[in-house]
Amino acid sequence: MQKLRIAIQKSGRLHDDSIKLLKECGIDINNGVNKLKTEASNFPLEVFFLRDDDIPQYVEDGVADIGIVGENVVLEKNRPFQTVEKLGFGKCRLSIAVDKSAQYNGVKDLQGLRIATSYPVIVDKFLKDNKVEAEIHEISGSVEIAPGIGLAEAICDLVSSGSTLFMNGLKEVETVLKSEAILVANSQLNGEQQILLKKLQFRIQAVKKAKN
Ligand code: ATP
Ligand code: ZN
Repeated sequence: MQKLRIAIQKSGRLHDDSIKLLKECGIDINNGVNKLKTEASNFPLEVFFLRDDDIPQYVEDGVADIGIVGENVVLEKNRPFQTVEKLGFGKCRLSIAVDKSAQYNGVKDLQGLRIATSYPVIVDKFLKDNKVEAEIHEISGSVEIAPGIGLAEAICDLVSSGSTLFMNGLKEVETVLKSEAILVANSQLNGEQQILLKKLQFRIQAVKKAKN
């Protein structure tokens, strides 16, 4: 029998809400600790647990048919997906922040600065769109400490409450992107898989409607 394979985050900010969404869709999965994959007992769905950064690639390659991942990751990886459905969780923004005592009157003030980020592709596009030239320093984690250690004058990082920025003496000055978790799909699903996806999507829409 045809199955749909879905990739979700193994652990992290999207994991619990991804599992919860599937449960609310009436899909029973037992996610034992440290499992790489599991199967739903009452829906033809196989669940793969992966790092969020890898999900776009796996879905594009067809190792998974669909996936749940932040829009920020999809955009950074520059993948040609259709967004099947916005999921309403994992909401955050990708913002530029500078030292709280720095003068900032607009995007032109980023000219010539060093910007530390884990999102070089998105930041590069933002700078080009705004006709600003700045140096992008790609770092993989703890971006918010970069100004304090003299690595950069600005950062671009994910923000939800802003408390991490505040604790590091930074102020948010530009929103580059607003993001939430989305359902993405491989573009070459076969007929049966498309029917399964429609079924799942229909249930997701019902769950979302019930929350409004
Ligand atoms: P992984 O180990 O899977 O690579 P990660 O550390 O890259 O995990 P998380 O911090 O768990 O990722 O974040 C996963 C996603 O959650 C982000 O890509 C983003 O879409 C979303 N998110 C929501 N709020 C925030 C926030 N305040 N900070 C970071 N990510 C957030
Ligand atoms: Zn990640």
